[in-house]
Amino acid sequence: MLLGAHMSISGGMFMSLERGKSIGCQTIQVFTKNVNQWKAKLLTKKDIEDYLEHQRKTGISPVVAHDSYLINLASPDPESYEKSIEAFFIEMERAEKLGIPYLIFHPGAHLGSGEEEGLKRIADSINWVYKRARGFSLKLLLETTAGQGTNLGYSFEQLARIIDLVDKKKYMGVCYDTCHTFAAGYDIRDKSSYNKTFEDFDRVIGLERLKVFHINDSKKGLGSRIDRHEHIGKGMLGIEAFRLLLNDKQFKDTPMILETPKGKEMKEDIMNLKILRGLITL
Ligand code: MN
Ligand code: MN
Ligand code: ZN
Repeated sequence: MLLGAHMSISGGMFMSLERGKSIGCQTIQVFTKNVNQWKAKLLTKKDIEDYLEHQRKTGISPVVAHDSYLINLASPDPESYEKSIEAFFIEMERAEKLGIPYLIFHPGAHLGSGEEEGLKRIADSINWVYKRARGFSLKLLLETTAGQGTNLGYSFEQLARIIDLVDKKKYMGVCYDTCHTFAAGYDIRDKSSYNKTFEDFDRVIGLERLKVFHINDSKKGLGSRIDRHEHIGKGMLGIEAFRLLLNDKQFKDTPMILETPKGKEMKEDIMNLKILRGLITL
């Protein structure tokens, strides 16, 4: 299994790789800029070279990127929609320059304008950015969401609908967040519910589109629609769900990345990774 965690880029993009290596990550997720700001300093040639050299040296692969939390590709407000698309394209360029294969993003929140309208706006924005993204090999991964507020992407059908409306379908994939999907109402806590959920995913979206897992336990219950991450085995999902996932051969090459709460020293990541590794009997 390919295990890792979200890593800070504080001190430079390359530092994420150093941090990941220091706690034994095989794969990591990064933001390529400050997530709470629209603006970002351009990546210099040196930033990119340092990063690529450290990636070679650490052997961490793949590195996946997550976009800024400010971006809302379903916004009904023309000004914030425009701003979001522009910022999203910049995220794509940054990831592409760093040789990152996947950019993970939350589909968007319709803010009261209606679900189908929102899904269409998301697909329109993807079609727009891909017209500009000539020659990119970057793929976009829609993240499954908890469906908090007016957030879209809480059902497999909604994700399938977006993909259906996108022209360049070969660039589309899905990131399955175990906390969000559980909060959205999909159970994986025992063998039969686990099988049913992934059969549903396969029937509605297709398992070949599932490219990355976010491995988080959930503070809130099944169908709560509330997004609160918890340490592995300490939440409402519980350890058995992770045992099933970590021993599922069909996902042995799919990156599994922790997004559980942590402090600067990464002791929590070390603990969660140890628990996950201990579950593997393959
Ligand atoms: Mn996310
Ligand atoms: Mn996530
Ligand atoms: Zn979350």
